[in-house]
Amino acid sequence: MINQAGHAQYGINIMSNILDGKVLAQKIKDSLKEEVSILKEKTGKVPRMVNLIIGDQHGACAYAKSQKKVAEYIGIDYELATFSKDIPCAEVKEALIKLNKDPSVNGIMIHKPVPDQIDYPVLANCVDVTKDLEGINIVNIGKMMLGHTHIIPCTPAAVMEHIKSTSVDLKGKEAVVVGHSNIVGKPLSLLLLKEHATVTVCHVATSEAGKLINHVQRADILVVAVGRASLIKGEWIKKGAIVIDVGINHVDNKIVGDVEFDKASEQAGFITPVPGGVGPVTVVMLMQNGIESFKRQNSL
Ligand code: NDP
Repeated sequence: MINQAGHAQYGINIMSNILDGKVLAQKIKDSLKEEVSILKEKTGKVPRMVNLIIGDQHGACAYAKSQKKVAEYIGIDYELATFSKDIPCAEVKEALIKLNKDPSVNGIMIHKPVPDQIDYPVLANCVDVTKDLEGINIVNIGKMMLGHTHIIPCTPAAVMEHIKSTSVDLKGKEAVVVGHSNIVGKPLSLLLLKEHATVTVCHVATSEAGKLINHVQRADILVVAVGRASLIKGEWIKKGAIVIDVGINHVDNKIVGDVEFDKASEQAGFITPVPGGVGPVTVVMLMQNGIESFKRQNSL
C-alpha cells in the first residue's frame, strides 16, 4: 500500500487523497515564472513561442486561450498564428518552414484537430527538432526512447509531475498504463520505465480478452488514457494505489474521466479528478518545454 506523503517537491500539503491539478499547476507556473525572469536578466530576452491553429474548432481555440493566459503569467512571449479552415497543407508547411528559420522563435506547436486536407503527421515532423514544443517529432520521441530526454510530450510529462508530487518511489512498483496512443500511453510507459517501475501497457485487445480487470487490480500506479467513461470500475482499484485519469468524456453535459471517480477515490491512495487533474498541468508542461528549447538554443 502506498501512503500519502504530500506534494513534497512543491511544498504542497495534501489534505485528502485528491491530486489537485490546479494547485500543482500553480506551483510549477510560479517556479517557471521565476526561471524566465532569471533568463531575461541573463540574456535580455524571454522565450518566444508561435502556435498554429487551423480553422476554428472549439476545443483547439479553448486550449489556445488557456495557453496564452499561462504564457502571459510566466512571462513567455506567446503568439497564435491563425489559418483559415480551407488553407492548403502546402501553405501551412511554408509558414512552418519560415518559423523554423526565424531565430526569434524558440518553440512551435500545431493545434489539433486539423481540417481534412491537412496532413498533421507531416506537419508535426516538419517542426524543427529544437523547437518542437510537444516533443512529438520523430527525432524527439527517438531521443526519449534512448533516455536522452529534454523535451517530453506534455500530457505524459503532466502525469509524471502528478506522480512525482506524491513523493512515492516508483522503483519496483507495478505501473499499469491503459491506452497506448503515440501522444500519451506509449511515451508515458517509457517515462515510467525510466523510473524503474515494472510497466504493463493495456489496450483495446486487453479489454476484449477480458483481462483489463486483472491488470488494474494489481496496479500500484494506474494511468488511464482511453476516452471511455466508466471504463475502470472503482472496485477494481488496489487499496492505496496512485490513480491518474487522463480521459476526457462528455456525459450528461458534464466532463468525466475514464475511472469511476467516487468509488475509486475510496480505494486509492491518490487520485486525480476530471476535470482539474491532468489538464491544468499539461498546458504548463508546454511552457516548460518552451523554456527548455530557449535554454538549448541560447546554450544555457
Ligand atoms: P487515442 O484515441 O489516440 O487512444 C486511445 C487508446 O485507448 C488507444 O490506445 C486504444 O487502444 C485504447 N482503448 C480504446 N478502447 C479501449 C478499451 N475498451 N480498453 C482499453 N483500451 C482501450 O486517445 P489519446 O491517447 O489521444 O487520448 C486518450 C484520452 O485522454 C481521451 O479522452 C483524450 O481526450 C484525453 N486526453 C487528455 C489530455 C489532458 O491533458 N487531460 C491530453 C490528451 C488526451 P487501441 O489503439 O488498441 O484501440
